[in-house]
Amino acid sequence: MTDTINSTISFIKEQYKTESFIPLHIPYFGGNEKKYLIETIDSTFVSSVGPFVDQFESMMQDLTATKKAVAVVNGTAAIQVALRLLGVKSGDEVLTQALTFVATANAITYQNATPVFIDVDLDTMGLSPKSVSLFLEEFGDLREDGCYNKKTGKKISACLPMHTFGFPVHLDELMKVCEVWKIPILEDAAESLGSEYKGKPTGSFGKLGAFSFNGNKIVTCGGGGAIVTNDFGLGEKGKHLTTTAKVPHPYEYVHDEMGYNFRMPNLNAALACAQLEQLEGFLKNKRKLAKDYESFFLNQGIKFRTEIPNTKANYWLMCVELENRKERDLFLKTTNEDAVMTRPIWQLMYRLPMYLNCQRDRQLNAEFLEERIVNIPSSVR
Ligand SMILES: *Cc1c(COP(=O)(O)O)cnc(C)c1O
Repeated sequence: MTDTINSTISFIKEQYKTESFIPLHIPYFGGNEKKYLIETIDSTFVSSVGPFVDQFESMMQDLTATKKAVAVVNGTAAIQVALRLLGVKSGDEVLTQALTFVATANAITYQNATPVFIDVDLDTMGLSPKSVSLFLEEFGDLREDGCYNKKTGKKISACLPMHTFGFPVHLDELMKVCEVWKIPILEDAAESLGSEYKGKPTGSFGKLGAFSFNGNKIVTCGGGGAIVTNDFGLGEKGKHLTTTAKVPHPYEYVHDEMGYNFRMPNLNAALACAQLEQLEGFLKNKRKLAKDYESFFLNQGIKFRTEIPNTKANYWLMCVELENRKERDLFLKTTNEDAVMTRPIWQLMYRLPMYLNCQRDRQLNAEFLEERIVNIPSSVR
């Protein structure tokens, strides 16, 4: 195993042509970033309104093939507001996966709702339609106004799948199950900009989709997020809510409900536009790296995770699956000590103090992956 890890380290250093520290994922600024930022400063429109915000929203609509995109301050806020748009209320429950970044569960909590953790599929590492179906067969109570949880009596008002590392979940199957149980879907597509399922962009399948443009994502604007939807009216409502719910008026301050200041500043939108212009190139570059990793790891007898049939992954963070926790720990220790950054997949949400007591099914696949999946350097070369 040690030999294999050492050749892995050499291979990664060759890919990035360096002997110094190799991070997991860093942004690549090779386009109009500086030009647009300077334009923004020269125009004085650095804050909450400006042409780049509009341009960013229109680019996101095109990229995700949706009717309305709303620029927001970060991905977590995008999920939070999208849940509110779906009608998730205080005391409700939201079905999601325990194998995710903490923001997914936190956004549910911000709505004073509770996450219910359902297992993932081994092949996608994302929410399992089969497990959702089994859970609902046991606990679901379909009523006039939606689905309730027989155990808690609470309303299950949304389903929040997450496309782990840019690998799409089984969307057709999940949508079928959720349709039967009248549960609307919000896709946490924070990691999957550019990924496709059966030729269509992730984020466009659910009633709503949420994206992140944090510094470590495939496209960054420093910090930012977006909500997308094919329901134009719902999208407009999202724009209204995230811009303090201000009603247009020549001079009065009129706000017709409790909104948020979740706007993406024009300064960040400028960076986002310059980055989105390069997305196609980033995807090509990363897919090539994924191919190179795939053939390398095949020779090493290590399982490199690749996209599954009917899907296109954006290969945001690439990963290997080690044999067991012991090998995983050795891999993590050796690579990190040799300046190659690697990270384990997240701890499952119900291991964290605030989500300890949430209802969950048997998490066989999530726990299997938790012990074995490791992210390896994935930046654009
Ligand atoms: C990054 C990420 C988020 C949150 O995005 P921020 O822009 O950092 O708030 C949410 N969910 C998942 C799965 C993420 O990876």
